[in-house]
Amino acid sequence: MLNKYSISLIVISVFLTGWTLPKNDNPYIIVLGIAQDGGAPHAACTKECCANKWNNPQLRNKVSSLGIVDPSTNEVWMIDATPDFSSQLNTLTMNQKSTFKGVFLTHAHIGHYTGLIHLGREVMGAKQIPVYAMPKMKRFLSENGPWSQLIGLNNIDIKNLQDNTKIQLNDNLSITPFIVPHRDEFSETVGYEINGPNRSLVFIPDIDKWEKWSENIEDIVSSNDFSLLDGTFYDIDELPGRDMSKIPHPFIVESMEVLGDVDSKSRVHFIHLNHTNPALDRYSNAIKTIKDNGFNVAKRNQKFHL
Ligand SMILES: [Zn+2]
Ligand SMILES: [Zn+2]
Ligand SMILES: [Zn+2]
Repeated sequence: MLNKYSISLIVISVFLTGWTLPKNDNPYIIVLGIAQDGGAPHAACTKECCANKWNNPQLRNKVSSLGIVDPSTNEVWMIDATPDFSSQLNTLTMNQKSTFKGVFLTHAHIGHYTGLIHLGREVMGAKQIPVYAMPKMKRFLSENGPWSQLIGLNNIDIKNLQDNTKIQLNDNLSITPFIVPHRDEFSETVGYEINGPNRSLVFIPDIDKWEKWSENIEDIVSSNDFSLLDGTFYDIDELPGRDMSKIPHPFIVESMEVLGDVDSKSRVHFIHLNHTNPALDRYSNAIKTIKDNGFNVAKRNQKFHL
């Protein structure tokens, strides 16, 4: 017999077990790191920006990388293999059911591909992990050790990317690389647009000044739901004595100027912050100004549902 007491027990247990909550199986992007290639603290930095970070792991910033997660299929992908690859892969595959389906590379600067080293025989001894690369990036990996050994031993399986050519990841997700201007010593540099069932996200961790690009960044931000953009430096104060126009990144203050009238600016999140960038400190004036202007700085473990 059900009395009032047992009915309320059932109601409470249904609530606690989450039966009443709709399950959100939509794919999402997770931020795995927000720092520039060298991370923070930064090798050899004894300045104030890194002083507290050496002895306090909680304050450290991992190198910029994104995870793409599809909970409905348990598939995960990574964009960029950073020097923090091991912990970032762990974040992505903590759910034991997840299958690691591959890595998409943006370019051959050390913060963006050297994590591949963990796939080799000294560490994971991985088998045919798909690594998606543009033509020059592919040649760079194929012709130079130790990367060529990953290919020779079939630890990785290089998949070809082409500018503005969509790759269908599964029924729910697709990803499209697009070339951006950057210091291209060893490879071309790309950003990525990721499309899910309902939303899209654009990721541009490294780019020269916006005006050097043939595309209009205002249009890109307007046509995507979320934009994670190069926020390497906040302003010229981080680089005393240098000419602002010669620094090959858009300063955050410049991006806020360029994107100031874009309706969707609240969905712009700066990423790839240098150790000197005051916006790494969430109590800084820089963060306050960014928020007051309607923009954001990406946070580790932040999710963007697609
Ligand atoms: Zn970089
Ligand atoms: Zn520093
Ligand atoms: Zn770079």
